[in-house]
Amino acid sequence: MSAIGSPALVLNADFQPLSYYPLSLCSWQDAIRATFLEKVSVIESYDQIVHSPSISFKLPSVIALKDFVMQHRRSVFTRFNVFLRDNFTCQYCYKRYSANDLTFDHLVPRCLNGKTTWNNVISACTSCNLKKGRRLLKNTDMKLTKKPTRPTSAQLQNNGKNFPPNFLHESWRDYLYWDTELQN
Ligand SMILES: [Zn+2]
Repeated sequence: MSAIGSPALVLNADFQPLSYYPLSLCSWQDAIRATFLEKVSVIESYDQIVHSPSISFKLPSVIALKDFVMQHRRSVFTRFNVFLRDNFTCQYCYKRYSANDLTFDHLVPRCLNGKTTWNNVISACTSCNLKKGRRLLKNTDMKLTKKPTRPTSAQLQNNGKNFPPNFLHESWRDYLYWDTELQN
């Protein structure tokens, strides 16, 4: 693995990842900059060493912020967060899709004054969305898996753990899944 592909996992001051999905990572350049500015502590390092004219040091693989960053206590209503709340699963056919293949469905359609809110918007695949069309659910033979509500940020974080990135450096694992891996 080249130095270019060696991002650092960024933890909050409480050693929890700032975000699970997308996973909070920063480039090795930013990690080193933050270290020199004394904004972060280096927790783990890669074996790779970078040299500057005067010093050399190991690339950080896990860094932790020195000052705790308060996370949003209210979940922000975004397209991504709706999909994350629903685990990237169509709420009608229960199948999982990638974000590109998911759409929003308004339970009460917009043409019937349905609002774009946590309680009225769900993830749906294109074919279920088309099938439902501009109808109320009770006028269809379709069923919802669960009533949509505003998730807590803890619920979103927890759902994010279901989507590990393709690459996980071994030094990250202790900080990512320590509360689930103990079962083995
Ligand atoms: Zn579907």
